[in-house]
Amino acid sequence: VEVDRALEAVRQEGGRLTATRRIVLEALTALTVEAGAAGPSTGPSPSPGTGPGTGATAEQLAEVIRAEHPSFSDSTVYRSLERFEKLGLVTHAHLGHGPALWRLADQPRWYVVCSACEAAVQVEPDVIRPLLSELMRRVGFSMDGHFAITGLCQRCSARER
Ligand SMILES: [Zn+2]
Ligand SMILES: [Zn+2]
Repeated sequence: VEVDRALEAVRQEGGRLTATRRIVLEALTALTVEAGAAGPSTGPSPSPGTGPGTGATAEQLAEVIRAEHPSFSDSTVYRSLERFEKLGLVTHAHLGHGPALWRLADQPRWYVVCSACEAAVQVEPDVIRPLLSELMRRVGFSMDGHFAITGLCQRCSARER
């Protein structure tokens, strides 16, 4: 359903609805959409910042796609993602020094990343909402989550004391 809606948007914009684009969108959906919108997921991710509901790197997408379509290149995936982003269908965030994480645009996500150990934690919208509205109210600034909020995780700040 999600993929169909997105593809419809590509079509309306006059973009060619290639099999390639469908494959990339489907892979992104499969990799990043949580099965049944899980409950609190503020625990540290097993591998920093990746997994269902979090996002996928272009490399991860390319790898998944190549399992079925061996001729798919990384640059094809990049081009499709960039196209989708221009259309407002997908978005990406930077969690640290690593590659960007991509996800569907209608799944807002916020991340905090530890500067010491690079652990990434996905923050639920209700945690970040008060911060967003204060920023808007007092500074007139709307935060977009393009970059993670950095600092020290619990473990690392305990170690520093
Ligand atoms: Zn960026
Ligand atoms: Zn840490």
